[in-house]
Amino acid sequence: MKVAGCPLCDEAGGRVVLQAPRWRLVHAPEAGLPAFYRLVWQEHVKEFSQLAAAVGTRSLLLFGPTDPAIWAPQNPQVRILRSSDLTMKGIELGDVVAALEKLPCAPMCG
Ligand SMILES: [Zn+2]
Repeated sequence: MKVAGCPLCDEAGGRVVLQAPRWRLVHAPEAGLPAFYRLVWQEHVKEFSQLAAAVGTRSLLLFGPTDPAIWAPQNPQVRILRSSDLTMKGIELGDVVAALEKLPCAPMCG
């Protein structure tokens, strides 16, 4: 999916060096960074966690003040842990470990 107005959907984002169906590598030099390269996902994503979900990676996403209904990828292998007080500090390590133990098993888990 492409989104009109997104600079990386509308244009390559630099000189395309290498390209595959799902990504492209572009040379995008910036001031003081003449060897800067950027790996760009071919489809528009709202945030980084959607990249992992897009390729089927099991993921546990932690949410504080932002709304997972808006920002979380809608994939069956993604689990959400939302803070009870809507801050990231409100997420306890024990809750994260418990949620990780409940993630669906990858095919190689046996
Ligand atoms: Zn985009």
